[in-house]
Amino acid sequence: MQDHAQVVIIGGGIVGCSTAYHLTKMGWNDVVIIDKGELTSGSTWHAAGLVGQLRSERNITRMLQYSVSLYDQLEAETGFATGWKMSGCLHFASTKERMYELKKGATTARSFGLEMNIITPREAYDLCPIISLDGIIGAAYMPTDGEADPSGITQALAQGARSRGAKIYRNNLVTGFEFDKNRVTAVKTKEGVITCEILVNCTGMWGYQVGEMLGVNIPVVPFMHQYAITNPIKDLPPKLPTIRDKDNLIYYKEEVGGLVMGGYERNGIPWAIDGVSNDFNSNLLNSDFDHFLQLAEPATKRTPCLESAGIRKLINGPEGFTPDGDAIMGPAPEKDNVYVAVGFNAFGIAAGGGAGKMMAEWIIEGEPSLDIWPLDIRRFGGYHHSRKYNVERTKEIYGKHYTIHWPHEEHDSARRVRRSPLYNTLKEKGAVYGAKYGWERANWYAPQGVAPKDEITFEIPNWFEHVAAEHKHARENVVLIDQTSFCKFEVEGPGALEFLNRLCANQIDQPVGKVIYTQMCNDRGTIECDMTVGRLDETRFLMVVGTAFGLRTWWWIKTHMPDDGSVFAKEVTSAYGVINVIGPKSRTLLEKTTNADISNQSFPFGTCRQFTVGYAPVISFRVTYVGELGYELYIPTEFAGHVYDTLWEAGEALGVKNAGYRAIASLHLEKGYADWGSELTPEYTPFDAGLGFCVALEKDAFIGKDALAKIKGKGPAWKLCTFTIDAAKPLMLQGSAPILHDGRVVGVTSSSGYGHTIKKNICYGYLPADMAGVADGYEIESYKTVFPARLEPNRQLYDPERKRILA
Ligand SMILES: Cc1cc2nc3c(=O)[nH]c(=O)nc-3n(C[C@H](O)[C@H](O)[C@H](O)COP(=O)(O)OP(=O)(O)OC[C@H]3O[C@@H](n4cnc5c(N)ncnc54)[C@H](O)[C@@H]3O)c2cc1C
Repeated sequence: MQDHAQVVIIGGGIVGCSTAYHLTKMGWNDVVIIDKGELTSGSTWHAAGLVGQLRSERNITRMLQYSVSLYDQLEAETGFATGWKMSGCLHFASTKERMYELKKGATTARSFGLEMNIITPREAYDLCPIISLDGIIGAAYMPTDGEADPSGITQALAQGARSRGAKIYRNNLVTGFEFDKNRVTAVKTKEGVITCEILVNCTGMWGYQVGEMLGVNIPVVPFMHQYAITNPIKDLPPKLPTIRDKDNLIYYKEEVGGLVMGGYERNGIPWAIDGVSNDFNSNLLNSDFDHFLQLAEPATKRTPCLESAGIRKLINGPEGFTPDGDAIMGPAPEKDNVYVAVGFNAFGIAAGGGAGKMMAEWIIEGEPSLDIWPLDIRRFGGYHHSRKYNVERTKEIYGKHYTIHWPHEEHDSARRVRRSPLYNTLKEKGAVYGAKYGWERANWYAPQGVAPKDEITFEIPNWFEHVAAEHKHARENVVLIDQTSFCKFEVEGPGALEFLNRLCANQIDQPVGKVIYTQMCNDRGTIECDMTVGRLDETRFLMVVGTAFGLRTWWWIKTHMPDDGSVFAKEVTSAYGVINVIGPKSRTLLEKTTNADISNQSFPFGTCRQFTVGYAPVISFRVTYVGELGYELYIPTEFAGHVYDTLWEAGEALGVKNAGYRAIASLHLEKGYADWGSELTPEYTPFDAGLGFCVALEKDAFIGKDALAKIKGKGPAWKLCTFTIDAAKPLMLQGSAPILHDGRVVGVTSSSGYGHTIKKNICYGYLPADMAGVADGYEIESYKTVFPARLEPNRQLYDPERKRILA
């Protein structure tokens, strides 16, 4: 084996080979793949080979759409047989809720030109005359889905990489690494040591244990996954599409005159959770017919020809699954030169082509061309280091692989992981909790006599009116919102100001006591992180970030930290409970609990102060996320219960109430505020998002300044807009809904919901800047229904003059 390569990829499955294929295609040719067995000998060789494109996230579907376009020409390019057939895919619905899901998929697919047609059961039968239509109420057909020979595709990708200079070393176990600080400098293998500049971990279900060797946490859990191959079936029609009958949890494809039939049972079985043997090469597990029966029985009803066909083989092959059902990709936050692409949850053949492209872009260009945050390894938190958590949650998610993905759905397993000090108090007051980033957060409060429980639905949910009441109270009176889950960082030291000013687009050099709303941008000027920064003293800053983006923000801070010791940064999320006192009576309430002068003159909007509430020291930011006068209180954790009680008692005479996260969502939407992950992403600049006021081009160099200056000069490419839809009753609109003009898709929604004060359905979405002058003629499509939409001249529908905030 050679002793150096620019990039070493561990794992010669479809993902490793696709990464090498795309790296070499983009001009990086000094690439090596090392596999402990033969190519494909992990999960790839035994995959069923269905290539479906539809996922619940828009950009993941687009990534899979790229796979299809690649597979369509790969054989011609490389000369290797790939078995690729664009056979199409039929999706069945047996319930009206499943129909909603199919319509959502078809609507989203349309937004980026992917064809998915809603068809009748009869039309489905014509495409696939082996099915029984019993119970089927509708169907969808995706003509460009297909099937492939997983080994063939992988060998073709490997050949493509090889032809451009990549080297592949098979039967060579990676046993360890050499490090220099946070960098991997060399890979130790059975056949010797190879130095590298970049390491990519594409080891599928071995990802967790290779991660352990690297010091990188990768929450992949291997699960058994079975499918049956039947004997040839007499008179099986040629050119059958692949089939997904998710209400029966099963899928099919044609295979040499018979059928492959598999599925995702509700009680999936984890396997080798403490580590998969390194000798497990091209192996299968023992078939478990008893366990498979729960899928085989409905399958024989759906396709009666199975009854007489007989099963030739029951393949039981393990595969890496993850606690949220999405793959794990991107730069490992613990190391400076390690990338990860593992845990493909039984869609690695469909994802492989696109995933390799994303990885190559990430490595060469610093980021993928699609924003694939749901797959980003930086979405995981400290609790994902717990194997117990990962196994329990992955088990639930495996069981939900084919169940309906409900709006606002919460999961049941591995709950109550991170709890605010107010958890029990608020539970007694009716809090209905949801989980975010391991935190239990009150979504809404059930009044007395109402069951504290979400009922899942695509229609108006049981909590809607109670959230409306919380919303109204925040607008008219005062509410307390527990926002302890906010992610917080302290940055301090003699170099802290200079450092933050280099990272943040806004001017951080403000007087002590200011709170600055800012984004951190990359060199392209697009948004990496979004936060508020309070200047506590000359050299000490408290930075507050949304609950789920802590690790990503931390990674960005860490990768830019000077190493001269002038800046010290640490996460202090657990150090502070947070209570948001919000509403027009919030000052009156807070004044009853503190001696501090919190008048508008002494404590104006956009500043922070330190004072006591009851017996407790607090830091208060006078900012708002909902468009009302309000105070965020950062309270040393052990005082949080006391501060809550103090506020509650003082507020009773005023009529204080609790409010939850669903009320925040609706209040926030009326006010036109944008969210990281929805509106604020690496696809857009602050100028696109209407946050030009947060870009201080007059200050010294900061990351993204040059790009932002150019963008300001020529004008942004996009404009974040607010739309409203009038309807007789509130609409529960789907996410990523296409925005249409003259029947043409001109954008997609980034957030949507109901504004309880303005009594309208509200959507945000980006329009190309040249559309922004077109005032009329918009429509929004949701679940295949088109609604006339009004482009609002002002993005802020509530209190655009900010009178209430500044009061
Ligand atoms: C029964 C079954 C059916 C499936 N059907 C489909 C389907 O129809 N459609 C679909 O899209 N997906 C399907 N999948 C999923 C698909 O097979 C996987 O997602 C995909 O193969 C994962 O590819 P990979 O490259 O990530 O991992 P793998 O193919 O597992 O490759 C990882 C490689 O890493 C190597 N490796 C690990 N540790 C080391 C080490 N220390 N040193 C050197 N090398 C190492 C392994 O030998 C292995 O070759 C199915 C999976 C199963 C189990």
